[in-house]
Amino acid sequence: MTTLITNIKRLVGVRKTNSPHSDRGLRGKELAELPAIEDAYLIIEDGVIAAYGAMQDLKSDGSRDRDPKSEINAVGQLIVPCWCDSHTHLVFASSREEEFVDKIKGMSYAEIAAKGGGILNSARKLNDASEAQLFTTAWERLEEVSRLGTGAIEIKSGYGLSVEGELKMLRVIKRLKERSNLSIKSTFLGAHAYPWEYKENHKGYIDLIINEMLPVIGKEKLADYIDVFCESGFFSAEEMEMICRAGMTYGLKPKLHVNQLNSIGGIESGIKLDAVSLDHLETLTDEDIKSLSAPATLEMGGRSSMATLLPSAAFFLRMPFPPARKLIDAGCAIALASDYNPGSSPSGNMNLVVSMACIQMNMLPEEAVNAATMNGAYAMELENEVGSIAVGKKANLIFTKPVPSLAYLPYSFGTSLIDRVMIKGEFI
Ligand SMILES: [Zn+2]
Repeated sequence: MTTLITNIKRLVGVRKTNSPHSDRGLRGKELAELPAIEDAYLIIEDGVIAAYGAMQDLKSDGSRDRDPKSEINAVGQLIVPCWCDSHTHLVFASSREEEFVDKIKGMSYAEIAAKGGGILNSARKLNDASEAQLFTTAWERLEEVSRLGTGAIEIKSGYGLSVEGELKMLRVIKRLKERSNLSIKSTFLGAHAYPWEYKENHKGYIDLIINEMLPVIGKEKLADYIDVFCESGFFSAEEMEMICRAGMTYGLKPKLHVNQLNSIGGIESGIKLDAVSLDHLETLTDEDIKSLSAPATLEMGGRSSMATLLPSAAFFLRMPFPPARKLIDAGCAIALASDYNPGSSPSGNMNLVVSMACIQMNMLPEEAVNAATMNGAYAMELENEVGSIAVGKKANLIFTKPVPSLAYLPYSFGTSLIDRVMIKGEFI
């Protein structure tokens, strides 16, 4: 099946595969470079990008001879690679808008927790829900975010906090992977919080993760990555390291929650563990920024840990936004993700994430789009499959409504500017 798209006003995020950037993500100044072709065509074969270029070259490069089965006229439209959302908690049992209202009324976190709120509330509800129920609601959310332009996504466990609950979540994610056309990565986050019964017995819960959960996850190949919530009052950097090393023996690479609330050594440990990404980063010391900006060493296979920022969580929690400008100016590689979850970011809308990054974090539109596509793909080790317009990559494309420029997308925040979304060459 061949599809030819013609008269594209601007084809955005055009990159050669195996370009020098593709093996380490876009860092520092590179983030501001977003190559594009004006008045372009694009050819898709069997769901994969086969050729592209300027309209004036369409006839001369023989592309017409491919005899397209279908032709789409994209006059006036921008085509942008689909968003690559590298950090979500999309499987959950129920929303938490009662807590949202309680917070507006001035209730403290402790009071909300005493009323049965927070992560442990989500965990109780998740353990009560059936696998089928969880799958149905997660599938609806996945469809919702794909209509908003997301074409690749990472999904975490972490609301089970029991052997059965965690495995149930990971099995739901496995089914989503099998059924969906989106590229999906699965992360085991058993170390999200301590469940009630282990409040005073941290070692007991870590033993449960290492001895009861991980062997099954390894055997059934239920996850790609392992995550730990490294914060004061949750898991220390030492505990994170111990859990990650155990996960790594089953082939799970670390992808970690660090420095949302405190700087307690999570970044240093994460880099030592060759983490695929270090996520949140609202609270950073100068030393942390220096560590994040260091280029990858050869022992790390040339891959560096992607610094992943989650502006919608900072927005929803009314916390300071992560210092994107400082990170970029120091030469870091940064990605943007939604953190879609019921407690701190009940939205998986990457268009809004890109807007917030520009409005609140002083990122240029080009930087934000790169961070939400190419670097998001890198943060899921999918950079050879999605994240840019390149021959051989999946045809996961956002067709915008007629807009004057790329900058118009984050500028007119909250407005739906997506006309249609294509996943693997098919409109959804
Ligand atoms: Zn998260």
